[in-house]
Amino acid sequence: MFTFVKNLISRKAPRKDKIEPINKSGELSNFPPVDRWDDWTEYEAAEWPDRVARRYMLVPTICFNCEAACGLLAYIDKETMQIRKLEGNPVHPGSRGRNCAKGPATLSQINDPERILHPLKRVGQRGGGEWKRVTWDEVLTDIAGRIRQAFLDNRHNEVMYHVGRPGHDGYMDRVLQAWGIDGHNSHTNVCSGAARLGYALWQGSDRPSPDHANAKFILLLSSHLETGHYFNPHAQRIIEAKMAGAKIAVIDIRLSNTASMADYWLAPWPGTEAALLLAMAQVILAENLFNREFLERWVNWQEFMKAKYPERQASFDEFLAALKEHYQEFTPEFAEKETRVSAEMIRKIAREIAQAGEAFASHVWRNAASGNLGGWQVSRCLEFLNVLTGSIGTKGGVSPNTWDKFVPTPPNKPSPQKMWNEMLYPKEYPLSHHELSFLLPHFLKSGRGKLSVYFTRVYNPIWTNPDGLTWLETLLDETLVNLHIALSPVWSETAWFADYVLPMGVGAERHDIQSQETHAGSWIGFRQPVLKTARQKLGEKFEFTYQANPGEVWEEDEFWLELSWRIDPDGSLGIRRYFESPYRPGEKITVDEYYQWIFENSIPGLKEKAQTENLTPLAYMRKYGAFSVETDVYKKHEKVLSSSELSDSQVDETTGIIRKNGAAIGVKINDSAVVGFPTPSRKLELYSETMKDWHWAEYTLPGYIRSHVHWQNIKQEANEMVLVPTFRLPTLIHTRSGNAKWLNEISHSNPIWIHTEDAVRVGVKTGDLLKVETEIGLFINRVWVTEAIRPGVIACSHHLGRWRLRDKIGGERWSTALVDLIKLNPTQWFMRQMKSIEPFTSADPESEHIWWQDAGVHQNLTFSVHPDPVSGMHCWHQKVKVSRPLPNERYGDIFVDTAKAHQVYQEWLAQTRPAPGPNNLRRPLWFARAVKPAPEAYKINE
Ligand code: SF4
Repeated sequence: MFTFVKNLISRKAPRKDKIEPINKSGELSNFPPVDRWDDWTEYEAAEWPDRVARRYMLVPTICFNCEAACGLLAYIDKETMQIRKLEGNPVHPGSRGRNCAKGPATLSQINDPERILHPLKRVGQRGGGEWKRVTWDEVLTDIAGRIRQAFLDNRHNEVMYHVGRPGHDGYMDRVLQAWGIDGHNSHTNVCSGAARLGYALWQGSDRPSPDHANAKFILLLSSHLETGHYFNPHAQRIIEAKMAGAKIAVIDIRLSNTASMADYWLAPWPGTEAALLLAMAQVILAENLFNREFLERWVNWQEFMKAKYPERQASFDEFLAALKEHYQEFTPEFAEKETRVSAEMIRKIAREIAQAGEAFASHVWRNAASGNLGGWQVSRCLEFLNVLTGSIGTKGGVSPNTWDKFVPTPPNKPSPQKMWNEMLYPKEYPLSHHELSFLLPHFLKSGRGKLSVYFTRVYNPIWTNPDGLTWLETLLDETLVNLHIALSPVWSETAWFADYVLPMGVGAERHDIQSQETHAGSWIGFRQPVLKTARQKLGEKFEFTYQANPGEVWEEDEFWLELSWRIDPDGSLGIRRYFESPYRPGEKITVDEYYQWIFENSIPGLKEKAQTENLTPLAYMRKYGAFSVETDVYKKHEKVLSSSELSDSQVDETTGIIRKNGAAIGVKINDSAVVGFPTPSRKLELYSETMKDWHWAEYTLPGYIRSHVHWQNIKQEANEMVLVPTFRLPTLIHTRSGNAKWLNEISHSNPIWIHTEDAVRVGVKTGDLLKVETEIGLFINRVWVTEAIRPGVIACSHHLGRWRLRDKIGGERWSTALVDLIKLNPTQWFMRQMKSIEPFTSADPESEHIWWQDAGVHQNLTFSVHPDPVSGMHCWHQKVKVSRPLPNERYGDIFVDTAKAHQVYQEWLAQTRPAPGPNNLRRPLWFARAVKPAPEAYKINE
């Protein structure tokens, strides 16, 4: 609607140019052909019914609005050199020309009149809301000086980079390793850390890559048709499979859009999903529906027998008997009692999964894995079904993500850092699959360390993480965080408490390389600043990307490069050499040279492909924006080791493991020497010796752990319920969509879903207010009464409830409520919405036509941290108490006690079983780790 109005306003006198048809035959086509991207003409839609032609240059880039990295095509008006629209890039192998609403909405982020256009420095006290504009040169000089001093003082662990949405593959890893620090922090343990552990224990790789397009049966513990991981690339392939006859089952407490398209919707009690999956496994085992050949060849059943049944004969038949015995308690009838899903349904789906055999695809990402104590067992039990059916690495099955994701080697790669940062990977969580990021303020408050220079980058922990007010308290304490730098394309609740707010580009304003496991095949995508590329094509020259972007919006690649150069101007710290050009020795590398080197040296087949068009590899990537690296990606574990790979290797006669220079490179099975999987046994690990070695002997096998929100813990008569606060909305991004007016026009409320039966019991109808009390506080929101949710459970999307503390700055007025945040005493906070969303005057006339008022309610502030003692993942689900609010309580009210929050943190921390493990290590060496240090850093020396 907005665009239409805008176009009416800006309507010009019609020009009646004639357009060449797309095809010689004059037929329409879905996309402009690539050979006409440099000069593309189409009629101006808003001039209809006049036929007014406009000429565009089409420049590809990559969307930055979620992790899927879909291709975008920017339509740059050749007359104004402004971006008019962003559509799909048809040659991108992952997204194939399609996008969700958030891709094209990048344009509303670019043109947002509220966005931060220049580097800002705080004036007065932190969080006081006074800012002054500074130059990039001042920013770089100040920050570089502080980092250099920290390195000279051997305070390396006081420099930390904390990322929300990375959007690149490896760039920052390289920067941090060039600095020699263990300083990478992420958001992963409020997102996918638990699922990663479950997958890693089986296969070494910590993510799945389902081949949805070729599957016959798809089991999803996610909402992939609307919001799940890599959802647009996955959604289009799931629907392809459905159109070809595949069945879909969705396990979700909500009737999500995905569940509504499925053949089966199963809504178990939250946290019982692993029992449900094990019951399916039990049916497949008991009815002999498993893939015997695959199990015998690829499961580490010999280790299972040795560890669990040493008294029994170590034969495969005996293993099958033992396996059936071990899982016999998980009958569908048991699961029905535990999960409240019918035994008949469980049996039916289990048999259909078995019938799909090798063409059974499955996926869990957040969902149950990220909600529950023991959620990491959910992905492990799901993968168990793939193992039983032999659908690992097959057409229509599930592969390790590393087979379908291509990460190129950068120039002059630094060695791994030799230090370990305890505030990232503390001893209490040796098996955590990513940093204990959301505990950082508790670590700081407990005196575990301090930060001299803390970067938050596209990361808004005050709003996104649980226990945001503990974050706020910590960021206000300058003795704990000396300097906070927020790198962000948009204002956020956290940026308000920074010392510098540095504007960074959205997907059409920056460089990155990105690849994701979207399907059976690997590709790389090239994100680029489209206006700079277009103007360079016309002969203009730029030193820095911010010279071509709106205001002084920069890209991180150049920022880090310039910063690193200033940290070590003379090379004495050993840092500068990593930022020298591979083409001009001793001189500073440019971003063009960085990608030129990668495209020339690290991407198999790209150079040859570019040559067919007489292009350099860099020019090829600038032209197409993506490249398909590999399409034959099945059964890579069966790759036979070559004679050169085998030379000087040794085979362990008992296990078959093949080692070379001390490292396992494959496994001998029968007479073939094959690569296998990157696990200690090189096989799929049903039995994990690692779990035993690291003090969790009761979890050596896929199993079921009762969640902290198990139904036995919920007293319905006391109005207790389970709150599921994790679901996404299809049209929003956690934090960044705040400045996308088109997206906020579509989605701007997050009411609490409540089942009809519960609504009657509590006495509410749709639109009524409900008070939700958590362990540490409360929030008040409206309800939506529906049958599309399991009774006993309420759910609320985490995608809304944005707020700002000042009227005209610090939060986008398209999406934030103006709030009053009151500190009642040293640990108690109260927030009230003072002004909801309303029209405002700005450079964009559409801001005066805002018709919606709601900004939603911020529930995460009222959650304490719940770190799972094994995976380290925050367990999002909450036991809550619901009631009608008191007369003086209002929509959006929030109360929090951070002292209670710290107490809950300590209770969960007490459940851990800390390192060391074998050999006095902090963590298993074979586990993946973000920005992995050198092996010597794993040793605990004290
Ligand atoms: S799925 Fe993600 S990457 Fe793709 S268009 Fe939507 S927001 Fe962008």
